[in-house]
Amino acid sequence: MKGVLLKNEPLAKYTSWRVGGPADQMYLPENKDDLMEFMASLPPEEKIYWLGLGSNLLVRDGGIKGTVINTRGRLKVLQLVETDKVYAEAGVPCAHVARFCTDLGLTGAEFLAGIPGTMGGALKMNAGAFGGETWKIVDKVEVINANGQVSQRKAERFEVAYRSVKGLEDEWFVAVVLKLTKGESEISMQKIKALLEKRALTQPTNKPTCGSVFKNPPGDYAARLIEASGLKGYAIGGACVSKKHANFIENTGKATAADIEKLIDFVRRQVNELQGIILQTEVCTVGEKL
Ligand SMILES: Cc1cc2nc3c(=O)[nH]c(=O)nc-3n(C[C@H](O)[C@H](O)[C@H](O)COP(=O)(O)OP(=O)(O)OC[C@H]3O[C@@H](n4cnc5c(N)ncnc54)[C@H](O)[C@@H]3O)c2cc1C
Repeated sequence: MKGVLLKNEPLAKYTSWRVGGPADQMYLPENKDDLMEFMASLPPEEKIYWLGLGSNLLVRDGGIKGTVINTRGRLKVLQLVETDKVYAEAGVPCAHVARFCTDLGLTGAEFLAGIPGTMGGALKMNAGAFGGETWKIVDKVEVINANGQVSQRKAERFEVAYRSVKGLEDEWFVAVVLKLTKGESEISMQKIKALLEKRALTQPTNKPTCGSVFKNPPGDYAARLIEASGLKGYAIGGACVSKKHANFIENTGKATAADIEKLIDFVRRQVNELQGIILQTEVCTVGEKL
């Protein structure tokens, strides 16, 4: 195998919240073939976790018992495959895809510019912003199973909803073919500029966060409900509800995953008590408590 295998690797340095205990082992594949070989070599009972840029992941302080496949800086093939179709492997950052499509004069992927994750993470989360959504532009995907076998699947085979995708069975995304529309580079560039400016104005983009912690309930906004519950600035340990955007939780420096998890639970309980709405988390929580 040509990739890098790390033992007892601390995960805090791979998550945007900068928290999380160690993984038993982490594999950084050299490329797709190498990943297939590595997956095939794992014992059938091994627990497998995937990590992109860790921008939507709360890893608990006790870490992960099992193998983490880390696609950061790996699986990074990005190419035009037909006049309006782009192939991107799972580790390609969303922002690179947005820029690549824009440079080619293809429109539809601009919203990806502001999502600080990989294409694999965007597929898993159906990431979206400003009206754009990942699965609205998916033509087909390549998935890998726990035996290291890769297969292709059309987008229609998945059940897609707001920040949710169903249809993976002990499988993970290794690549996607995006279907875009002919546009104009200059217009796409302006769109990207405007949406990045809007983000910087409304979100604490320079702080360690995981983006929106909760999904917006139908017909309302999680941020509005949290703010209306008087929770802006509320802190537990080193975790604090952002004063800039109430649906973000900031690590103010020394937060543990336990602080963040406690704050998430507290916010959920308060909003339920005061607004009568049970918020669902968007953030994925994995690993063991200490
Ligand atoms: C400042 C900030 C702003 C954000 N803004 C937005 C926004 O506007 N819209 C939005 O939707 N999200 C937003 N997010 C959240 C996050 O960026 C997205 O959910 C992103 O898609 C996560 O990608 P990732 O590569 O970081 O995934 P990770 O956080 O590493 O993983 C997220 C989940 O996907 C799984 N996963 C990762 N790779 C794969 C794969 N290849 N196959 C299968 N499963 C996989 C992981 O196991 C985990 O369950 C924001 C986050 C931050 C920090």
